[in-house]
Amino acid sequence: MILSKRLYPPAVIGIIGGGQLGKMLAQSAQRMGYKVAVLDPSEDAPARSTCHTFIQADFSDEEALVKLSDMSDIVTYEFENIDAHILRNLVSDYYVPQGAETVLTLQNRTSEKNAIRDSGASIVPFENVSSRGDVESFADKYSYPLIVKTATGGYDGKGQYYIGSKEDLTAENIPFEDREFIVEKYIDLEREVSLTAARSAGGEIVYFPLQENLHRDQILYRTIAPARVAYFEQAKAEVKKIMDAMLFVGVFTVEFFIDKEGELYVNEIAPRPHNSAHYTIEACNISQFDAHILSVTNQPLPEVYQHQDAIMMNLLGEDLDRLGLELFDYSEWNVHLYGKSDRKPARKMGHVTILTDDIDMELIKLKKNFEKES
Ligand code: ADP
Ligand code: MG
Repeated sequence: MILSKRLYPPAVIGIIGGGQLGKMLAQSAQRMGYKVAVLDPSEDAPARSTCHTFIQADFSDEEALVKLSDMSDIVTYEFENIDAHILRNLVSDYYVPQGAETVLTLQNRTSEKNAIRDSGASIVPFENVSSRGDVESFADKYSYPLIVKTATGGYDGKGQYYIGSKEDLTAENIPFEDREFIVEKYIDLEREVSLTAARSAGGEIVYFPLQENLHRDQILYRTIAPARVAYFEQAKAEVKKIMDAMLFVGVFTVEFFIDKEGELYVNEIAPRPHNSAHYTIEACNISQFDAHILSVTNQPLPEVYQHQDAIMMNLLGEDLDRLGLELFDYSEWNVHLYGKSDRKPARKMGHVTILTDDIDMELIKLKKNFEKES
């Protein structure tokens, strides 16, 4: 269904997925006066505390998704892996501005990377592989090091195998018989950046500043915005190619690699709010969550600007173990805790955002206070 009119509060926004992204979307929607209904399988989903109606149900429970849609004026999702058949049904019967086809393409790394390549954007060499032999043939063409990734369901580096040499390939027990995989060239990274953009239902596009991302163990560790490298225009041009090839309504983020030669490559696309744009809550005139709510409700989008430079640090379970309540000792840290009860070392439990006029000085302070290094 297509919505040609603007949707004003107190309309109900139904959100599929009640993790931290769902929670922050709900907070933004509620600030504007919308009502929010959330569906999530977890009893203590972060967004449960920030919605008017909570449906605890599995993402594969079509009846529950229909119930959510029936009580909502529009349906949006922060969760990417909704079943294709169910999502297509929802899109045909309800107003789901993000649609089905883009997210379905992006659910699978093979179709995602094919779509990026077909759009003309630059991407590292990759191939779909179903055996060790396939990876070896790829290595004959492109040489080691390589990285093998599950085609579906991976996030925060889950389901990834670094293959430095043929010996690594022999040693790794990659379950080719159970899953689909891709292999790609492992890049000697100079830096990683991401660009978050939003497209409204009316076709307006706005871009957030270029974000510079540091990962540790393949999980986002820190974002600095604006990025301290001059790739904004080039990244925008790459995003534009992708947008011309795929339909986006709402907020989305394109992740990039920059190699040691200075080449920019698209890594992947997230058709939803993204961890690397959390700093926008404090640092910009509108947050990525505001941009998403405005987009899907067919409201006009303002030009984005950033008030002050920002650093965002993720708070994993292990960071909380280390910092404890000291987290609140640093008044310049804007603390976000998502309210997850089950703390695990590598689980994203929250984040902090720091606004500053001196990124270098702040990084030195963070080494001492956040990492506890002298
Ligand atoms: P996820 O879906 O888990 O975010 P990504 O493909 O973005 O998967 O990989 C997570 C991180 O792992 C990247 O941000 C990057 O730091 C590292 N990584 C992934 N692929 C490569 C690659 N081909 N070369 C170098 N580093 C990589
Ligand atoms: Mg990624």
